[in-house]
Amino acid sequence: MDRSYLNDVPDDQGGPAMPTDRSEASRPVPFTFWLGTHRPGWLSWIDVPLMVSHRTLGRRRIDKLPRATQPWVLDSGGFTELGMYGGWASSPQQYAAAVRLYSTEIGMLAWAAPQDWMCEPDMMAGGGWKVGTGLDVAEHQRLTVANFIELRSIAPDLPIIPVLQGWQPWEYERCAEMYEAAGVDLAAEPVVGIGSVCRRTPADHRVAERSIRRIAPHVGPLHGFGVSLAGLDMYGDALGSSDSLAWSFWARADGAHILDCDQPLSRSGETYSVANCPGCALAYRREVVRRAELGTFGHPAWEQLEMEYAR
Ligand SMILES: [Zn+2]
Repeated sequence: MDRSYLNDVPDDQGGPAMPTDRSEASRPVPFTFWLGTHRPGWLSWIDVPLMVSHRTLGRRRIDKLPRATQPWVLDSGGFTELGMYGGWASSPQQYAAAVRLYSTEIGMLAWAAPQDWMCEPDMMAGGGWKVGTGLDVAEHQRLTVANFIELRSIAPDLPIIPVLQGWQPWEYERCAEMYEAAGVDLAAEPVVGIGSVCRRTPADHRVAERSIRRIAPHVGPLHGFGVSLAGLDMYGDALGSSDSLAWSFWARADGAHILDCDQPLSRSGETYSVANCPGCALAYRREVVRRAELGTFGHPAWEQLEMEYAR
């Protein structure tokens, strides 16, 4: 297995000083990047850690599921599902059954996201293509924690992770308290997700950074859902892992291959749209790994931040 993605990233660099009570906080921690893809078939032939969505896999026939050749993680597809329907269409029982199927048939599932409730303002109020749930942050958090408790009770053997939802730092802390009150020891969890952090404005990025630096010392290694390169530069040192499909959106928006894509890889002479180009995906991953190795996480490159917002 390719383990080159396990880069030692020192976590004692830069950023605002935050109280910490974890004795291991000064030790280098490995950082894992889960490369997002719309193509589940990559699991069987691209040798890097991948994130695939339940929304993509759920459309496949059981006998068409790939066999994974390296560890991967499952996204529950909540951003799309909540945005489109204002709630979860599938029950916890149905989702747990799907996770079990993927775990058995595809294999090497490292963890799966729960059916959590994102807390971006337009996810609740609606706007653009999102219909809005009509609920508030506290209710989204209550539903998120309740779903995790139910999934773990239905399928305690499946690696479904708890996810912290919120918007302001104090709200993420309240979500952590809700888990503790429900008997979940977040400090003992091998992975704890943090959602609603892939925001779009510099001011919101700073709010996300404050949230992450406040919560990180008190819970297991944090996974930042959909964190951009700019986000990693700001607070990647406080995360254990992240994922991104940004490469696909960039390539589709540009209508061209991105970064140092060295042409689409192909297993069988297929052609790819740039939004599904394995070369672009691996080029983006190389950039994340390069920054992790350089130790630039926690030292934001403001030019890069501005470039991303200009897109
Ligand atoms: Zn490409």
